[in-house]
Amino acid sequence: KNYQVVVEENRRLYNEVQELKGNIRVYCRIRPFLKGQNKKETSIEYTGENGELVVANPLKQGKDTHRFFKFNKVFGPSSTQEEVFLDTQPLIRSLLDGYNVCIFAYGQTGSGKTYTMSGPSINSEEHWGVNYRALNDLFHLTQSSQNTVMYEVGVQMVEIYNEQVRDLLSDDGPIPDASMHCVRSTDDVLELMNIGLMNRAVGATALNEKSSRSHSVLSVHVRGVDVKTDSELRGSLHLVDLAGSERIDRSEVTGDRLKEAQHINKSLSALGDVIFALAHKNPHVPYRNSKLTQVLQNSLGGQAKTLMFVQINPDEDSYAETVSTLKFAERVSGVELGAARSYK
Ligand code: ADP
Repeated sequence: KNYQVVVEENRRLYNEVQELKGNIRVYCRIRPFLKGQNKKETSIEYTGENGELVVANPLKQGKDTHRFFKFNKVFGPSSTQEEVFLDTQPLIRSLLDGYNVCIFAYGQTGSGKTYTMSGPSINSEEHWGVNYRALNDLFHLTQSSQNTVMYEVGVQMVEIYNEQVRDLLSDDGPIPDASMHCVRSTDDVLELMNIGLMNRAVGATALNEKSSRSHSVLSVHVRGVDVKTDSELRGSLHLVDLAGSERIDRSEVTGDRLKEAQHINKSLSALGDVIFALAHKNPHVPYRNSKLTQVLQNSLGGQAKTLMFVQINPDEDSYAETVSTLKFAERVSGVELGAARSYK
């Protein structure tokens, strides 16, 4: 088939499915190629606004020499934190209209999940990720409307590791409900997030090692009361940095490492199943299959908006993981393009 025909076919299919879907969006972000690593770069072509992406198989064998994907948007390697936030901001703001908003970062370890959600450093405002920007924006909005609506904002921060939920803002060990902390400014939040990050490091031999194998969830709950009518509106925002999605070779790991890998697999596929069921408006949504989906149960589905950042590592040796990440995203978004996806 000629490329243009396939692309047209994909667009038509995509638009059809898009109309059926609920409030689920997928943004793909390609991490910059980090130079000086003695690696080769995968050939990835994309059109940002259209969300189209073509990945070339470095081995160039078989019939899948190229794979075609389509998402709501693709952010290339030179996109800035600010640009990414601009396209996320309207979604986040809908929490003040009473929506539950969930934002996930999915991808293999090293693909830029933490960069997108938090940024490389808490101290560099220019590089702040989605979570700090979101809270900053939220406080601006709540303060500018304080004559009409009184807002209360509460924050929770948990880590899910080996199917156990740990409160990062209190020392109470495994818990049924995470502690809620009232915040009034971005500085309050920064302080809490610092505490959370420190607690996350406790007990981990190397922070990066462990944080890539646990999910972290920052939850923001807002209650707004209209000063004239006394009517109340509640919304929530969950910002989720997921564990690395890379598959572990079972023959190479044993013991704790194998257990971790199995827990991660289980929870990521449970998340995929839940979002898939929601995107397809299935009557049964399987929330009970993992701690992650249980924690987020009230925030996925119903009056909820979901955004998934699928993070791509551009190194050629990550090609297999890249395709598996993109397929996961394609499946959860409810837009599986099937045969039309790949072309010669
Ligand atoms: P993950 O959370 O998926 O394991 P990280 O966010 O830690 O990945 O990113 C891996 C490395 O790549 C880090 O050094 C990070 O600073 C860098 N990085 C990721 N995304 C970007 C980006 N968009 N621009 C610049 N550097 C990035």
